[in-house]
Amino acid sequence: MRFLTGGGEMGNLIRSVNWSATPLGDPTDWSPTLKTHVSTMLHNKIGMYIAWGKEYIQLYNDAYRPILGSVKHPAAMGISTRETFAEIWHIIESMFADVMAGNSVGFPDFMLPLERNGFVEECFFDFSYSPIFEIDGTVGGVLVTVIETTEKKRNFERLSDRQRQLDFTIEAADLATWDLDPKTNKFVGNDRLKKWFGLETDEEIALPVAFDRIIVQDRERVANAIEAALKPGSDGSYEIEYTIFNPVNNKYKNVLARGKALFDKDDRPFKFSGILQDVTSFADITKHLKEVGERFETMANNMPNLAWIAHADGWIYWYNKQWYNYTGTVAKDMEGWGWKSVHDPIEFPRVLKVYEESIKTGHPFEMVFPIKGADGIFRPFLTRTVPIKNDTGEIINWLGTNTDITKQKEAETLKENFLSMASHELKTPVTTIKAYAQLLETIAASGEAMPIGEMLQKIVKQADKLTSIIEDLLDITKIQKNKFVFNNAVFNFNELVNEAVEDMQRISGRHTIETNFDSNIEIHGDRDKIIQVINNLISNAVKYSPQSDRIIIATRLLDGGVQLSVQDFGIGIEGKKHQNIFEQFYRISDSSQYTFPGLGIGLYIASEIVTLLGGKIWLESEMNKGSTFYVWLPAKT
Ligand code: ADP
Repeated sequence: MRFLTGGGEMGNLIRSVNWSATPLGDPTDWSPTLKTHVSTMLHNKIGMYIAWGKEYIQLYNDAYRPILGSVKHPAAMGISTRETFAEIWHIIESMFADVMAGNSVGFPDFMLPLERNGFVEECFFDFSYSPIFEIDGTVGGVLVTVIETTEKKRNFERLSDRQRQLDFTIEAADLATWDLDPKTNKFVGNDRLKKWFGLETDEEIALPVAFDRIIVQDRERVANAIEAALKPGSDGSYEIEYTIFNPVNNKYKNVLARGKALFDKDDRPFKFSGILQDVTSFADITKHLKEVGERFETMANNMPNLAWIAHADGWIYWYNKQWYNYTGTVAKDMEGWGWKSVHDPIEFPRVLKVYEESIKTGHPFEMVFPIKGADGIFRPFLTRTVPIKNDTGEIINWLGTNTDITKQKEAETLKENFLSMASHELKTPVTTIKAYAQLLETIAASGEAMPIGEMLQKIVKQADKLTSIIEDLLDITKIQKNKFVFNNAVFNFNELVNEAVEDMQRISGRHTIETNFDSNIEIHGDRDKIIQVINNLISNAVKYSPQSDRIIIATRLLDGGVQLSVQDFGIGIEGKKHQNIFEQFYRISDSSQYTFPGLGIGLYIASEIVTLLGGKIWLESEMNKGSTFYVWLPAKT
């Protein structure tokens, strides 16, 4: 049985089978054709299988053996195909019959549902069934040559699945893909890439053409990035954002390119591929957001108020510059609830309660409380917070502003003081007039002849005082309503000052008013109103210098006009208050407030008059040394 020598494991198996017990009988009696084929089969490296005779008794080689899985082998050797492949017999029976009729059949990747490992599995084969002709021309059996392609097929399907997923992702993410062969510089891209670059979809891409679509200022950067990715020793990564210009639609597009170069064992790049993402809109949005952010910062940092932003839970995470400037703090001190440190500890619990309540309920917050400045002084601030909501109405932030209302508070105090002073000032003359009138009444009733001239003089004096206060108050109303009427005429300034001085000298008992006049000058203006200004300055000089008896009035020609000065040697005015005393209702609020009666409106009216005449009013003063008030008026032109 030389034909049965060798043949590997299956050779051994064939030799061990008791063929006499099979329809094939003893191998020595096999037909020469069968012997030749069995021998050829056993020495072949491709899977071969013979189904011999009408019974299709099976013989197979080592390469075929895996097709039989774990349950069909070794039982299959020497038994009928019908038995071994019962589960597919209905498929292959007709094919075998065809082969027995002298025909060959064969298919690539043919699927057979085999039950070879205890379960049914789809198996794929490239196979050929061919007849084995006996010398007499009859067909002795079927020769099967087969290569199992199940694994290849599965891999292919897996790959196709992955490709499909990849295609889907690329499609869904609106990505363009590219592949550059580093050896040939051949550049391939998907249709989207070609569209973006303004190339026909069936057009081959020449790298220089694609490169030309990159805007000039970006080209060098891109070239350098590609070179860096392809450089041996690099990790091959490539990421760069640049702008392309599409000449077909005349549009610019910002793209983000990402890719990877792969290197062979000699560290030479053999593949360089990746994607392009359209980031035009991202870039626009980012730019827009940046601009909005910058605009907000600029606005918030330039408004006079202190401002801040908190999270929905009240945790403050941003303050504007004014906050830091005013409080003299830095971001680190202020984070979260750090703002407590600039609060008045006595007021703080009240503030916190309202703030927390507002955060809990989502209602805006409005409150006045003191905040400590960098100079350690607490000033009153009107604080407002408003909730900022998202599209669904949920509070995402709180925006807070603190407005310094020191000035308003001061104005309020001034007004309150004014009212109390005004009632006092009006009441005094009225009381005096009433007292003298009653006295005169009593005298008249008694029928006695008594000197009443002095009493009448006092009544007139008090009535004048009342008239003057009422006139001042009316002036204020007129100024406020812009109805201050000027009866302008040309007059001699020194004469006018002299007149005023003489009048004032009469009533200002112990003070001597000295004068020092420059040359004469003509002025165009409202005589009475200028006298009113001078009277006011002289009466203040008298009033605020009780310990002295000198007042010096001077005129001086200066800068195309005349300067009048009224100097006293009285209590003086602190430097920082020099500006304020020309404000409405402003009185120096210290212990002297009630010592010197007044309504704080004389200098306000004086400054309005002077300004409306195109002049200036100012002062020089030192505490306890005295004050000099200056008025400059333009000369007649
Ligand atoms: P008043 O009726 O209170 O005198 P004014 O408007 O004339 O009002 O003056 C405003 C404030 O300026 C005064 O209350 C006083 O404190 C201060 N003042 C004005 N003139 C003098 C002065 N010559 N010396 C000191 N203080 C003055």
